[in-house]
Amino acid sequence: MNNQIVFNGIDSDELTSVLARGIDHGGNRIAPFVDDEGGWPLRCCLQDSKSGDEIAIIAWSPFEWDGPYRETGPIVVHTGDCARSATFNDLPENLNRHPMTLRPYGREHTILYGLVEHLPEGDDLTKRTRALFTNDDVVEVYAKNATGGCFAFVARRNPPT
Ligand SMILES: [Zn+2]
Repeated sequence: MNNQIVFNGIDSDELTSVLARGIDHGGNRIAPFVDDEGGWPLRCCLQDSKSGDEIAIIAWSPFEWDGPYRETGPIVVHTGDCARSATFNDLPENLNRHPMTLRPYGREHTILYGLVEHLPEGDDLTKRTRALFTNDDVVEVYAKNATGGCFAFVARRNPPT
C-alpha cells in the first residue's frame, strides 16, 4: 500500500458547531479567554497560540466513530478565526518533536496495543507515524501528549483503505 499519509487536528465543521452551541463534548459551557502568554498547543490548526489569541480549553472527542474506545479529553482551541482543518503531509515543526504516545487503531475501532509507541522528545513524529502504516491493520493513528495524555493529532491514509 502506497497511500499517502495525512495529518490533521480536530474536525473543523464540528468545532464550528460546538463553538456555536457553546457546550463542549463533555457537556461543559465553553469559556473563551485571551491568551496573554502564548504557547498553548492548539488542536484546531496544529499551531502554538500567540499572545492575544482568543482560545478555550474544551473537552473533545476526536474520534469520528462510536464505541467503547471513543474517549473524550481536554484540548485547547482557537475560538476565533484560524486556519482550522489544515491537512498536513508533514507535521508542523512546532509539533513534530514533542514527546508523544502514538496509538494505532484498527478496522474494529480498537487500539492495536502491540503497536503502540512511546516516543521521547526529539524523535521525528512524522516519520514514526508513517512507519506504523506499513502494517495494513492500521487504519488511524491518534497521537497523545506523553505527559498529559491530551489528544495531539490524527493520521490517516489518503485515500482511506
Ligand atoms: Zn487554530
